[in-house]
Amino acid sequence: MAGKLYSLPKLPYDYAALEPYISEQQLTLHHTKHHLAYVNGANALIEKYGKARKDGVDMDMKAASKELSFHVGGFNLHNKFWENMAPAGKGGGGVPKGELAKVIDAEYGSFDRFRKEFTQAASSTEGSGWAALSYCRTAERPVILQIEKHNVNVVPGWKMLLVLDVWEHAYYLDYKNDRGKFIEGFWNIVNWNVVADRLSAWLKK
Ligand code: MN
Repeated sequence: MAGKLYSLPKLPYDYAALEPYISEQQLTLHHTKHHLAYVNGANALIEKYGKARKDGVDMDMKAASKELSFHVGGFNLHNKFWENMAPAGKGGGGVPKGELAKVIDAEYGSFDRFRKEFTQAASSTEGSGWAALSYCRTAERPVILQIEKHNVNVVPGWKMLLVLDVWEHAYYLDYKNDRGKFIEGFWNIVNWNVVADRLSAWLKK
């Protein structure tokens, strides 16, 4: 049975919904150009594998795996990123509640300390990458990751709870080189309910 190709998902809100923290123009470009590029990149590789098999020629497996993890990593992270944001005051912003708040407090001591560490991970990402709050079920702890590109420093098996894109394409139109200001704005549009649901679904598995 043949598998499926990747496709660009719709955003869970309008392009202007995250203003003033992410402008309509910035979000439109990010979704329709950059996210789409990873969809196309991943699909092109799948087709390349298919063609090579049909033609009976070898693939450069090293190059192909590297490219595939980059494009599919980018595709998946963007899906998570859109979902873990919501308009400020309408699902976005505030602080975590319930089990998620307990897990964060138990590990970091306070929400403020967590936010500081996450901000530092996002600010100090070299070049293009992401900050992510993930969860390790072995150690039963949340862990902050700093992902380079879309696929370096990712730990297999750790659930991504909250991700923040700090590639320049995520903020340059709105903030130019001021990544710090973009990160500061992000806290106003974090959808903590989605983050909490990801954690509880993961813990129930
Ligand atoms: Mn991006």
